[in-house]
Amino acid sequence: MSDRERITLVWLKRDLRLHDHAPLAEASRSCAEGGKAVAVYVRESDYWATDKASTEQWEFVAECLRDLSAGLERIGCPLLIAEAPSAEIVLEALLDQYEVVELLCHQETGNGWTFERDKRVLRLCRERHLPVREFLQNAVVRGRIRPPEKPEHQSFWRDWLASPQAPTPRIWRSPSTAPPLFTPPDLATSVNDTRQQGGERLALGLLESFLGERCLLHGGYRVEMGSPLHGHEACSRLSTHLTWGSLSTKRAAHAALAREPRPPYGSMMHRNSFHRRLRWRDHFLQKFESLPWMEFRCINPAAETLHGWHEEWYERWSSGMTGYPFIDACMRSLNTTKWLNFRARAMLVSFASYALNLDWRRFAPHLARTFLDYEPGIHYSQLQMQSGTTFGSIPRIY
Ligand SMILES: Cc1cc2nc3c(=O)[nH]c(=O)nc-3n(C[C@H](O)[C@H](O)[C@H](O)COP(=O)(O)OP(=O)(O)OC[C@H]3O[C@@H](n4cnc5c(N)ncnc54)[C@H](O)[C@@H]3O)c2cc1C
Repeated sequence: MSDRERITLVWLKRDLRLHDHAPLAEASRSCAEGGKAVAVYVRESDYWATDKASTEQWEFVAECLRDLSAGLERIGCPLLIAEAPSAEIVLEALLDQYEVVELLCHQETGNGWTFERDKRVLRLCRERHLPVREFLQNAVVRGRIRPPEKPEHQSFWRDWLASPQAPTPRIWRSPSTAPPLFTPPDLATSVNDTRQQGGERLALGLLESFLGERCLLHGGYRVEMGSPLHGHEACSRLSTHLTWGSLSTKRAAHAALAREPRPPYGSMMHRNSFHRRLRWRDHFLQKFESLPWMEFRCINPAAETLHGWHEEWYERWSSGMTGYPFIDACMRSLNTTKWLNFRARAMLVSFASYALNLDWRRFAPHLARTFLDYEPGIHYSQLQMQSGTTFGSIPRIY
């Protein structure tokens, strides 16, 4: 019999919220039955050193962590935040310190780096005979070689939405033995009001302001989402919160569906359009879950050698110095605010691919680290669609 304390371990990744968080809810349930639990987030320095990550993204995450820490503190849960090259180093130290009965986390559809990290963590857990429970946080099925067709995914999405959100954790019991000492990351952030700020509280405020007022501004969401003048106000601006998990897609979709139709009745059209985009989000995540190689290879193999490279043109494009005023305005706006609406993103990619003949794989990292909402599942599908390297559809040039 081990003299180490028995705990349930919750590993947080891109799910930095208190509400609708199944692993935290499950750990809280086990605490209510007399168990003990530890929640940990690891800032993985090897990930943050990749060319797809940026200081601004980390600062958004740090703001989410500060908000989540405060929320967990209120139920008596001290969130353990550690820094290490990769998560398994911290998880292994916790497995040495405690008798961990189960590891709870969310299933993540990430890029090549996080996929390899997940495999290392699962290998460690197998070696230590530790059961792992990965909860869904999106309507994404794991282990499908072929992504489901649209109607099949739609029906999965409907079933998934019909299931309730996870209850908010209310009870927590920490072990009496302190966790091992880890280097904490710096959670201080620069004062910067040009990019979005992180945290669940702000995410819920945005959701409310969008569904209550902003989706009706000017000509309304459906009309204005592509506007260079009004898009930043008329769009939901929830993508960054959905990416880092300070808001769950299910909660956003439930909120949109729960709105009572009220005058002007056209408002339902805008909310339905928003709801449809949330479904697309998971559809793209599902595609990427099934075809993760699309981060590195063209979906259409015949397009592998379609594009080339020109360093000076890339430099001009990425710094907003091509001499084409609208292209440069969009890129400079992106470089400053870290967000663009769909149409402007598509146009920048079309211009780089078709006008400058640049290979999407080599300019993808600039966009990945500059978009605060870098979501690999959406990102690589869209890059390839707007570069004309997919199958089937007629190339779109925005
Ligand atoms: C080249 C390119 C790269 C992109 N990369 C990303 C990315 O890394 N991360 C990201 O979240 N979005 C990406 N998008 C999709 C889209 O541009 C953004 O989701 C949107 O602009 C975010 O702003 P919003 O939250 O106000 O969107 P809204 O218009 O309010 O949409 C609501 C939500 O629906 C989802 N959504 C919207 N449009 C799409 C779409 N076409 N496909 C899938 N889901 C969608 C997003 O989660 C978004 O937050 C990309 C688009 C292009 C053309």
